[in-house]
Amino acid sequence: MITFYNPMHRGHAPAHEFFRGERVPCFESPARVDYVEEALRARGHAMVPPDIDSGPVLPQVHAPRYLAFLQTAWPQWLALDPANSEVQPFPSVWPVRTLRSDVEPENFIARLGLYSMDNGTPLAHGTWDAAKAGADAAASAAVRVAQGAPATFCCSRPPGHHAGPDFMGGYCFLNNAAVAAQVLRNQGAQRVALLDVDYHHGNGTQSIFYDRADVLFVSIHGDPRTEYPFYLGHADEHGEGPGAGYNVNLPLPAGATAQAWFGALEQACARIAAHGADALVVSLGLDAFEGDPISRFALTSSDFSRLGERLAQLRLPAVFVLEGGYAAAELGTNAVNVLDGFGRG
Ligand SMILES: [Zn+2]
Repeated sequence: MITFYNPMHRGHAPAHEFFRGERVPCFESPARVDYVEEALRARGHAMVPPDIDSGPVLPQVHAPRYLAFLQTAWPQWLALDPANSEVQPFPSVWPVRTLRSDVEPENFIARLGLYSMDNGTPLAHGTWDAAKAGADAAASAAVRVAQGAPATFCCSRPPGHHAGPDFMGGYCFLNNAAVAAQVLRNQGAQRVALLDVDYHHGNGTQSIFYDRADVLFVSIHGDPRTEYPFYLGHADEHGEGPGAGYNVNLPLPAGATAQAWFGALEQACARIAAHGADALVVSLGLDAFEGDPISRFALTSSDFSRLGERLAQLRLPAVFVLEGGYAAAELGTNAVNVLDGFGRG
């Protein structure tokens, strides 16, 4: 399977994040992609750099003012004080209910809050370049499928599925899976199905396509009553306006068995088959793995092969987009198990 890698991902390497009030090393680190690339190489998958500029597509899935902020955020931070090169900015105030989000404040930290859903998404020197190259890799993977490839893989970080129309969150800045789905539409697909198998609900992707019928969003994830992102991902979110009926959430309780997970996958596949999609995008998070340090599902490495085989039975050309997954050593094995399972199926 052709893999589009992100040549710039290493530039996004923040030193720490906040977890339950403590400053801790970032879970989302450059080593994650190294593990996946190592497994891809070991099993003979070709890796190529992105060859498509996602610039024209980004405003179709993200608000222009958010893109303008993100692109210039680090230089603006340094302009406040050159010593900020050694300091990671974090938001400390957010426009929650009753506060206004239509007026962009001048204060940098206030703007960071306006465009963030949490303080778990650290910005660093190379964040924009890494995120943009990742979106380019997703766009490239989608174009290759539109041109007839049976499947492609976007191997990139930072991940994307928590990034919404106008906000970052959950380590995500640009929504790579949404970019891939939009590119498939732009290239002529009438209907696209987007399946998110990351342990955490893909709130950003849901929000981007919530009022659209052309991109069906289906997600299997930990119940948001106890699991991040907490404020979206419930079973009663079905879409709105023209998108009513085109959003399907399949939350499972933390600790759910692999059997329960594959039961949800059958529901997801049935809905995707009914959609009559021309192409499939998979938000491929690997944190449903039993050994993941921040998640509580129980898939084994061989279960990821089974996932790939099952998705192949949908008989749709597919773009796989790397999302989360933090059990570093097994991350590569599990990702490539899905891809190889899909290739066999
Ligand atoms: Zn996740």
